[in-house]
Amino acid sequence: MLSRRRFLAALAASAVVGACSDDSGGGGGSSSAAARRSTSTTGPLPRLDGSAFTLGVASGDPMPESVILWTRLATDPVGDGGMPDADLPVVWEVASDERIRDVVASGVATASPRLAHSVHVDATGLEPARTYWYRFRVGEEESPVGRTRTAPAADAEPERLRFAFLSCQDWQDGYWTAYPHLADEDHDLVVFLGDYIYEGDRDPDKVRQHNSPRVQTLKAYRNRYGLYKGDTGLQAVHAAFPFVSTWDDHEVANDYGDEYDERGAPPAEFLRRRAAAYQAWYEHQPVRLEPPAGPDYRINRTVPYGRLAAFHLLDERQYRSVPVCGADIGPICEEAEAPARTLLGEQQEAWLADQLDSSEATWDVLANSVILSRTPVPIGDTVLYNLDQWDGFPPAQRRMLELLAERRDGNRVVITGDIHASGVADMWRDFDDDSSPVIATELVGTSVSSEFDESYLDIAEQAVRQAPWVQFFEARHRGYVAVEATSEALRADFRFVATTDRPESTIETASTWAVEAGRPGAQEA
Ligand code: FE
Ligand code: CA
Repeated sequence: MLSRRRFLAALAASAVVGACSDDSGGGGGSSSAAARRSTSTTGPLPRLDGSAFTLGVASGDPMPESVILWTRLATDPVGDGGMPDADLPVVWEVASDERIRDVVASGVATASPRLAHSVHVDATGLEPARTYWYRFRVGEEESPVGRTRTAPAADAEPERLRFAFLSCQDWQDGYWTAYPHLADEDHDLVVFLGDYIYEGDRDPDKVRQHNSPRVQTLKAYRNRYGLYKGDTGLQAVHAAFPFVSTWDDHEVANDYGDEYDERGAPPAEFLRRRAAAYQAWYEHQPVRLEPPAGPDYRINRTVPYGRLAAFHLLDERQYRSVPVCGADIGPICEEAEAPARTLLGEQQEAWLADQLDSSEATWDVLANSVILSRTPVPIGDTVLYNLDQWDGFPPAQRRMLELLAERRDGNRVVITGDIHASGVADMWRDFDDDSSPVIATELVGTSVSSEFDESYLDIAEQAVRQAPWVQFFEARHRGYVAVEATSEALRADFRFVATTDRPESTIETASTWAVEAGRPGAQEA
């Protein structure tokens, strides 16, 4: 009897011949035809120059009965991939055991040079709230085994949800010493909040160097992802948990918004760059999305987790109004107060209102790239703001606070990356009115490796002392936040590594905060 494994190998071999679609019954596959072709064990697969699975495997956007599986074939990940200019068949298998013996779903996907030989498989027919293992194969080579987990059924009330949230992994600023620790923890999923790559030039003074000058082309973005995704710690985390990911600015260019580029690229040129960056992002993320076609690419989406939680993933770059008082640190000018100014864009704002309105989850978690709570920096007689954050868009910030306030139990938690420092804020309905009720909670996670400029440390610490809604602030440490949510409370452990200057480090939980259901705002636990 033909084993399932040999059958799939045969199917893959037949797919590369290209005749599969015509004579084997339209994709369903005919085992006898495939078996006849399997007499040649390697098939006509082009010879690869080294291992194809240098970038590991990943999964993401779990649903109750399916999950996205990802890999990208690249024998030379920082040298344009190194792959032949041909479509290649990639076998995938999902099993209920780590050794991939009890295979419950499988198939053959096509890795095409158009998408840098990346593969996004929607593995369906799975059971809710279950752990699975998966693997790919190209020719005779097997990928490492990844582990993933489906979401609970829509009406299920899981006892708990564990997730970690992360952001900002500048390769040059430090080693990702948090990842081996994170990979060993027990989470249902990982949320990535942006700055997965940094587009910048090589800096010889940093602990490790980028592989090219400032990235501006599709090839260069792909090679930059090739560098970042080569990290074995990052690969281990992807192989351990499904990811739920959004982006921030550095996936394209620092502080960009819509067509605005801080370096002054003409809009048409910048939009071409944005299209290239969005495509490379898609090619390297396990996302439940179609590939982009051009510079407009909708990625905002909701990932529900039974009745316990729903993750609302926001895009805070593509639709934002261009800056009017600068995109850096400065006072808020009058033009910034124009009511039409937006950070999410009109459509995404309406979409979020609908998602929140119709949500039946105990916890609505907003995956937010830039700080939402007000963070004034009083200097002498003036007050400065980081105008790249929600503070730079006061009308949009007020609309967002109103939206969050609509839910009376206050179980809306905003998780944020952005500033390379940790923070906890009790969000006021109106930050100008100190009698205003607390309506939601913002948890800000530090960077995985990106630096907080310590020359700003004193100013930042002084500023947060004057903002009574800020409960916690810490900027010296790198790491991530590990969260456990139940129907009673959402608890956040701020996990800090000792160093990112060396490849390895210890880690500790430096601070723990809890939000009680029905009571917005955080308490130190
Ligand atoms: Fe960053
Ligand atoms: Ca950023």
